[in-house]
Amino acid sequence: MPTTMRAVVIANYGGALQFTHRPVPRPGPGEVLIQVRASGLCSTDLHLLSGRQPLGDLPRILGHELAGDVVELGTGVEHWRTGDRVTAAIDVTCGRCRHCLAGATQLCRTMRRIGFERDGGHADFVTVPAANLVAIDASISYAAAAILPDAIACMYHSLIRQGQVGIGQRILILGVGGLGIHGVQIARSAGAEVLATSRQPQRVALAEQYGAIGINTATESLEDAVARFTSGEGVDVVVDNIGNRASVVQGLKLLRPGGKFLVVAYLDETFEIASMPLFKTEQEIIGCRGSTKQDLIDVVRLVCSGQVTPVLGAAYRLEQIDDAVAHLESGDLVGRIWLTRD
Ligand SMILES: [Zn+2]
Ligand SMILES: [Zn+2]
Repeated sequence: MPTTMRAVVIANYGGALQFTHRPVPRPGPGEVLIQVRASGLCSTDLHLLSGRQPLGDLPRILGHELAGDVVELGTGVEHWRTGDRVTAAIDVTCGRCRHCLAGATQLCRTMRRIGFERDGGHADFVTVPAANLVAIDASISYAAAAILPDAIACMYHSLIRQGQVGIGQRILILGVGGLGIHGVQIARSAGAEVLATSRQPQRVALAEQYGAIGINTATESLEDAVARFTSGEGVDVVVDNIGNRASVVQGLKLLRPGGKFLVVAYLDETFEIASMPLFKTEQEIIGCRGSTKQDLIDVVRLVCSGQVTPVLGAAYRLEQIDDAVAHLESGDLVGRIWLTRD
């Protein structure tokens, strides 16, 4: 086992993600050491640079989407062996609070997340609690497995758990990025009809490839499209992957009475809403936070059975983090950026 490894860290808030070398961590009791084979780069990694979410002692290794092989077991770890192909649920939760006991681990108030409050997977190695591991079938590539915990499981949590999307429903997905394109597939797999928006033609085309009706909001009226799609009724569920005042105001307008508005994106802006329309329509505004380990297990099965295909974009090496970030920020990619371990 080497003593040092490559890593991508936040060394100070307000700076840039940095490539560096760090000591190889050792697994504590109940933890395993994973040799990371791929990790997904998320726009949240860039949001974290602002320091608005305190990460504890810096430097912090980022990377909340990872896949690799178990290479060492800490004391007390059962049911896992070295060589197992795995990914990991992001939230390391207490297991004792009322939310954890009810299975709503995404609400645990004392969680420490992989790649946030504890070191993550943008490195050659990472330690995670064995309780967070999910086995990956050999048919799923490491790159595809890496993006399951966030880009896919969070969409699954939003649509299926929070939105209770099902057969015959009509869904509007605002923003087809790294999450939205998987939202399209999950909603289609659940039997829903999907309208999906982007201002970029290649993303609209990709959404259509996966069974959505794509709307290019740079050139088409979304109001008209929803009116046609629903015969003027409004959609059953809106998934907001954009998260600004305009997307909320517009999304609520396009929702049918009794419909659900799913808040998925971080809202950096506040929005006002008049209480009378909400009273009259019984529309629901629902927060969607992350995913549970069970969501991740469900998603692995959906991918294995071919119902959902992980959509990967460009690959970069850890050393190329600057190029990877520039590509992510350019906004012109289709699919998830991932970091290889070549
Ligand atoms: Zn993320
Ligand atoms: Zn808890």
